[in-house]
Amino acid sequence: AFALTGCSGERGGGTDTGSGEEAEAGFEAGSPIGVALPDKTSENWVLAGQLFTDGLEEAGFKADVQYAPASNTVAEQQNQIQAMVTNGAKVIIIGAKDGKQLATQVQAAKDAGAYVIAYDRLIENTEAVDYYVAFDNFKVGQLQGQALLDGLAERAGHEAPYNIELFSGSPDDANSKVFFDGAMDVLQPEIDNGNLVVVSGQTEIAQTATEGWLPENAQNRMDTLLTSSYSGDTVVDGVLSPNDTLARAIITSVQQAGKPVPVVTGQDSEVESVKSIMEGIQYSTINKDTALLVEQSIKMVGQLQAGETVDVNDEESYDNGAKIVPAYLLDPIIVTKENAAEAYANVPSLLEIVKSYQ
Ligand code: BGC
Repeated sequence: AFALTGCSGERGGGTDTGSGEEAEAGFEAGSPIGVALPDKTSENWVLAGQLFTDGLEEAGFKADVQYAPASNTVAEQQNQIQAMVTNGAKVIIIGAKDGKQLATQVQAAKDAGAYVIAYDRLIENTEAVDYYVAFDNFKVGQLQGQALLDGLAERAGHEAPYNIELFSGSPDDANSKVFFDGAMDVLQPEIDNGNLVVVSGQTEIAQTATEGWLPENAQNRMDTLLTSSYSGDTVVDGVLSPNDTLARAIITSVQQAGKPVPVVTGQDSEVESVKSIMEGIQYSTINKDTALLVEQSIKMVGQLQAGETVDVNDEESYDNGAKIVPAYLLDPIIVTKENAAEAYANVPSLLEIVKSYQ
């Protein structure tokens, strides 16, 4: 069962459910809750901050939402988490800038009796992380790989073999490898049978990485690939991009080189990419509804507060190097021009954009 380090003798009045051995200790209603988010590398992080502030207050907690600034991000996030511990946060929800560099801070949180929830990105090499809440990252990758194959069949204008290039996210984000592995789960057999040709030969994750998830890094790498591997009439038919910010940078690079726009995948349903998809430029994105992820996290906080068993639906996938972190995984949805209206049926702001193209 669970370690009861979270109680610290501060059990809130009447929260003892007396239920089975899995019941948590609970804490006082209205307690401070810390939310530490990384720098704003995509729209979902910006939105999450607002939703956490509003949602936690609505649920009766005191919300302390902090972003790590764009420079000195890791150290600043470490300081922010330490300050949350000092200020008596009962739960600290963390979207890690670098999931390998927070062990000291989350251990301090544990020692102070707080719970730690890893939000969207896993925190690694520490036992002091209680739960993980995220969209199913491996499935995100699989959906991206499949979308690349579908898009090539639809748009390349010729039969296989197709020329492709592969991009992955920032090496300091645990998600990057999971996205890439999910995509390669679908793409590797097609590379092996010769239907897909990675013209640059760069198929190792280290070769495909995009430091800091920064669009300029993806654009630079794409510029270099075009020069080195696509001279003359050689066309790149498709590019695996791990998210929308990078997809747009990759597309810009190809356009500037005067080449036809390849099939490019994405993730996050960023406004500019949804528009691009509706205009027939970017091929796909993923709908990971931030509102649902924040809602699930706040639900966890409520369950911890009340001393109830916390909902998880995956207790085997996320080994962080020190323990298998119990996770609640939500289902990501692939979005192309074809299914966009359906995919955003519950996201009014995006649905409106889609409808304006129809
Ligand atoms: C998130 C993606 C996002 C990326 C860059 C990842 O950890 O899961 O949704 O695109 O970070 O911000």
